[in-house]
Amino acid sequence: MIFKERKMSDELQMLQALDRRMALSPKDHKNYQHLLKGFRGEAQFDQLLANLSCAHIQIHDLLLEHNGTVFQIDSLLIMKEKIIVYEVKNYQGEFFFEQERFFKVPRQEIMNPLHQIGRTAPILTQLLRKHGFNIPIQFHVVFVNPEFTLFYAEQNTPIILPTQIKSHLQILDENNSRLNETHNRLAKKLVELHLNESPYQKQPEFEYGEMKKGVVCGCCGLMEVEVKGRKVYCKHCNWVEHLDTVIVKLIMEYKLLFPNKKVTVSAIDEWCGSLISLKSISRILGQYFTRKGSFRWTYYE
Ligand SMILES: [Zn+2]
Repeated sequence: MIFKERKMSDELQMLQALDRRMALSPKDHKNYQHLLKGFRGEAQFDQLLANLSCAHIQIHDLLLEHNGTVFQIDSLLIMKEKIIVYEVKNYQGEFFFEQERFFKVPRQEIMNPLHQIGRTAPILTQLLRKHGFNIPIQFHVVFVNPEFTLFYAEQNTPIILPTQIKSHLQILDENNSRLNETHNRLAKKLVELHLNESPYQKQPEFEYGEMKKGVVCGCCGLMEVEVKGRKVYCKHCNWVEHLDTVIVKLIMEYKLLFPNKKVTVSAIDEWCGSLISLKSISRILGQYFTRKGSFRWTYYE
């Protein structure tokens, strides 16, 4: 059972929206590519976990805090006898360990993911004990990219290589014990402790004036769409979406990028490059958002 799904972080959503509407600075572009690759790897692993048939609870993308330390968990499984925590890596290319250090070939040092889980393990154990849960925790670093190669890999490490994922999940599936109320309480507690905003989130640089206004295709990301009736079509990739969904997404995007600007019919009209009728924008704002002020001072939250 999936108890908490993964969603794109605000930072990644923001960078994606900006990337489609302006040229990102080299620093933001690099950060965007890094976050996107990580997210895709995690989503890919989620799909594999979705096929598990044994009794378990899945919690994805947790941000927790204990004694002033904030730490992130990519995926967590609650099983009958234990919790399994996965640190998911979407690395591509050839890598090797050398004396506790981790390198990409030829010799670019990267943070050792085993140290990462080494830090998380005691903190998570303490946090769970504090809340009265005393259940063993197993940690794994899982490399999901089929184009990942690890040289000189030692056996008996918590590493799961791309070619080992399937058998790892098959072993979990052999487990047929049922969960009880304590497991449910544990899942609820973890989700309750989840922090919504990461203190590590970086704020990209952008200004309203430099951004392209228009409707972005939800599939290819280009602004080659047209509105026909209650549908939005992409001329480039044939993507079709209901007009209402497109307007809601435009408004959410605007609110995410400009939390201090007031959401008005004319602001959204300008944001979508006047591609959508004022009547439709007004209808959606009235339907899904809360109206504030009145007459020409009306705005929505
Ligand atoms: Zn498209």
